[in-house]
Amino acid sequence: MSAQQTIFVGGEWREAASGATREILDPADARPFAVVSEGGAEDVDAAVDAAREAFDGGAGVWPRTAVIERAALLRRVAGLLRRDRESLGALESRDAGKTVEEGRVDVDCVADAFAYFADLVTNESGGRVVDAGSPDVHSVVVHEPVGVCALITPWNYPLLQASWKIAPALAAGNTFVVKPSEITPLTTVALIDLLTEAGLPPGVANLVTGAGDPVGARMAEHPDVDLVSFTGGLASGTKVMRAAAPGVKKVALELGGKNPNVVFADSCATDEGFDTAVDQALNAAFIHSGQVCSAGSRLIVEESLRERFVAELARRAARIRLGRGSGEGVECGPLVSAGQLAKTEEYVASALADGAVLRAGGKRPEPGEQRPAAGYFYEPTVLDQCHREMRVVREEVFGPVLTVETFRTEDEAVALANDTEYGLAGGVWTADPGRARRVAGRLRHGTVWINDFHPYLPQAEWGGFGKSGIGRELGPAGLAEYREAKHIYQNLAPRPVRWFAG
Ligand code: NAD
Repeated sequence: MSAQQTIFVGGEWREAASGATREILDPADARPFAVVSEGGAEDVDAAVDAAREAFDGGAGVWPRTAVIERAALLRRVAGLLRRDRESLGALESRDAGKTVEEGRVDVDCVADAFAYFADLVTNESGGRVVDAGSPDVHSVVVHEPVGVCALITPWNYPLLQASWKIAPALAAGNTFVVKPSEITPLTTVALIDLLTEAGLPPGVANLVTGAGDPVGARMAEHPDVDLVSFTGGLASGTKVMRAAAPGVKKVALELGGKNPNVVFADSCATDEGFDTAVDQALNAAFIHSGQVCSAGSRLIVEESLRERFVAELARRAARIRLGRGSGEGVECGPLVSAGQLAKTEEYVASALADGAVLRAGGKRPEPGEQRPAAGYFYEPTVLDQCHREMRVVREEVFGPVLTVETFRTEDEAVALANDTEYGLAGGVWTADPGRARRVAGRLRHGTVWINDFHPYLPQAEWGGFGKSGIGRELGPAGLAEYREAKHIYQNLAPRPVRWFAG
C-alpha cells in the first residue's frame, strides 16, 4: 500500500520530514487500509511558520480579506461537502467505525456549520459603537482575528470536530494548523483539499498528521501559536493547558462527559411515552458504540419505573445489530481501536467486581459475516444496581456501557445528575412541563435536553461546565473564541488635559 502525503504546509502536500509513516486500521477487521505521514516537531514548526507568514506577512491577505469574501468561501466549502457527502461519509465510517449513515449525517452537520459561520460573521462584522459621552469622541469596539490557531481533534467525530474549529477560525480571519487524531486523520485530510478547491490561499490552512506527543504537544507550546483549541480527553486537555500556559495563549478545551439521562416515571405513563423514553435511552447510550462525548451513559431512573424500564432497555440493547459500518442492516459499528476495546472491558470487569448487575452485553459478540473476529466489537452493555462510588459511574468509559442508578425524589434526581466532575450534557424525561424546566434549570451541564437526547444546533453554544472544558464551540460564542475585541477610541477634537501643570 503506497503512503499518502498527508502533511500540508504552505499550500503543498508533503511527507514527514523524518520520512516516517503510519498505517491506518479499519476497526472492523483491524487491517490497514491507508498509510499516512507520521509528522514530528519539525513538521509542526514548518506548518506554524507557514501559518504565521500567511497571517502577518506580505502574502497575509486572509485576515484582511473582506468578511463577505471569507463568508463566500465558507459557503463554497459547504457546497463541496454536500457534493462529496457519499464519499466522505463512507470514509468516516471506515476510519472511525461508525455506520455509513452516521458518517453521512456528520457531513450534513459539518456543511451546516460552515454555512452557519458564514452567515454569522456576515451579520456580526460591524463592530459596536460605544457612547463615550462626548460628540467629540468616536469610540468603537471592533473584532480582529486572534492569529495563528492550533487545532487539535479526537477520533470519534473527526470531520465534525475539525470543522467546528476550522469554520469559525476561518470566518474570523485566522490562519491555522490542524492536527487530527492519529487514529482517524483521513477526512480532515480530505477537508483540506476541499478548502483548497474552494480557493483558500496557501498558508492559511496547514495540517500535520501524527501522534499527540510530539505533534500536538509541540503545537500547544509553540511560541508563534496564539490560540490552542483542543477537543479530547481530560488527561490530554490538562497537558495542553499546561503547555500553553508559559506563552499565555488563549486556550479552549472541549473535554469529556459523564452525562446523566434522568427519567421520571410520569414520562412513561403511556405506552407511547414508555417506548419513546426507552428508545431514546438506547440512542443516548449506544449510538457510535457510546464513543460520544455527550453519550447518556448514566441512566438515572425513578425507582418505581426501574424494573420495567431496565428490562425493556436490556431486551432492546441485546438486539442491536453490530457489524462493519458499511454492512447491510448494521445499526452499530465497532469500537475505534484495540485500546478502546480493552478500556471498555476493564471498566465492565471493575463494575461487576464492585457489585453491578449485568442486564445485557458485557462481552465481545460472536464473530459473523459482518463482524470479523479481529474487529473491535463489543456488545451494548447495561449495568444495573450501580452507585456513585463505582468508577464506571464516575469516569468516562467512552464505550457502549450504560449504568443504571435510581432516585425517589426530584431533589435526589438532580443531586445524582450533578454528582460528576464533568458537566457536558444531560437529558430529562418528564410529562410535567414545570418539573422539566425546574430540573433543566438546576442541572450543571452545558446542554440539557428535555424529552430528547443528542440533538444540537449550530446556532446554539456547545461546551461544558466543570471539567468538561473551557469555552464554547458553535453559536456566537463559538465565533468569539477566534476573535480579539479591540476598543478604538478616537478623539476628534484633541486638547491638552493639563493633568500636569508643565
Ligand atoms: P485524546 O485526548 O486521547 O486525544 C485527542 C487529541 O489530542 C488527539 O489528536 C491526540 O493525538 C491529541 N493529544 C494527545 N496527547 C496530547 C498532548 N500531550 N498534547 C497535545 N495533543 C495531544 O482523546 P481521544 O481519545 O482522541 O478522544 C476521546 C475524548 O474526546 C473523550 O474524552 C471525549 O469525551 C472527548 N471529546 C469531547 C468532545 C466535546 O465536544 N466536549 C467531543 C468529542 C470528543
